[in-house]
Amino acid sequence: MCLSPLIEKLQSAHDLTDTELLAFLTEPQDEAALFAAADAERRKWYGDAVYLRGLIEFTNYCKNNCYYCGIRAGNPHAERYRLTDTQILECCAQGYALGYRTFVLQGGEDPYYTDDKICALVSAIAAKYPDCRITLSIGEKSRESYQRYYDAGARRYLLRHETASPEHYRKLHPECMTLENRKRCLRDLQAIGYQVGSGFMIGSPGQTPENLLADIRFLQNLQPAMIGVGPYITHSETPFADQMSGDLHFSLKIIALLRLMFPKSLIPATTAFGSMHPQGRELALKAGSNVMMPNLSPTEVRKLYDLYENKICVGEEAAQSFRSLTARIQAAGYRIVSDVGDSLVTKST
Ligand code: SAM
Repeated sequence: MCLSPLIEKLQSAHDLTDTELLAFLTEPQDEAALFAAADAERRKWYGDAVYLRGLIEFTNYCKNNCYYCGIRAGNPHAERYRLTDTQILECCAQGYALGYRTFVLQGGEDPYYTDDKICALVSAIAAKYPDCRITLSIGEKSRESYQRYYDAGARRYLLRHETASPEHYRKLHPECMTLENRKRCLRDLQAIGYQVGSGFMIGSPGQTPENLLADIRFLQNLQPAMIGVGPYITHSETPFADQMSGDLHFSLKIIALLRLMFPKSLIPATTAFGSMHPQGRELALKAGSNVMMPNLSPTEVRKLYDLYENKICVGEEAAQSFRSLTARIQAAGYRIVSDVGDSLVTKST
């Protein structure tokens, strides 16, 4: 196969100059060649393994007002819910029986969940499932809070930086939120010893190729264990109701670029890909992703964790979706691995 010079350089150097990166982002690339190169890179490090993370969306209350998000505090039509500790532990039990060895507790920034409550929950899960990893994704907290969660047994934390460009950050968030604090959180989490996942939405309102370049440089500096990206998808009850969603093919191109630039990273085929296209997550796997985060939340609350329109997997039972997912991953040429699935990225802080 005749590769373009940019794809060839990505394969050999795992980096491009700023000018080359902007050209890569703005000029058409041979998709088939790019995805084949990314798939080969992923197989070099992770083979055909797909790691699973059981996602438990335990609260959709949020004190923040991010302009893009359907569960923002300012959406009066969002029907709010919180899972009880018992419900959360049931999700874990069901997930464990299916082979999940990582549980991701994700939610809005819900003040009801004090540090004491989060620590009690994390300790209970850690005591019951010592062979599992506990991931938190509950937003921006103080270093002391992150330390307490770590001491209780949490070992991973997902916090997308969303955008590394201050002016773009301002377009996406109200004044009371700052990019500096988001970055401070990520550095604190790494310093404590968490395996950190960061990332951004693709095609969020106002995003430019220069913003994406800054995102990639930020990630090169951070070296997170996981990089989570997915297309931005519009929600009608947000200030961005009239904005266009991100583009699927461009988002897949970004996945492939990330795989070639961050060969050892975990890169999830996020729910947003599946929500944009029936085969979206399989396409992301073929473009270089190697993680999936199926939903373990009780079926009755799934549709309420309504970040964006047409979110998938709102109706299926965990066991039912696990069976169909296994078949779909196999059909795409990959294999589910039932272990904790640690990242090969080792960042010393
Ligand atoms: N509160 C936590 C936080 O801030 O990290 C976790 C929950 S937050 C809803 C999880 C992620 O959803 C965000 O990092 C954001 O990138 C993504 N998200 C929110 N609204 C979205 C949208 N309209 N389209 C695509 N992704 C979206």
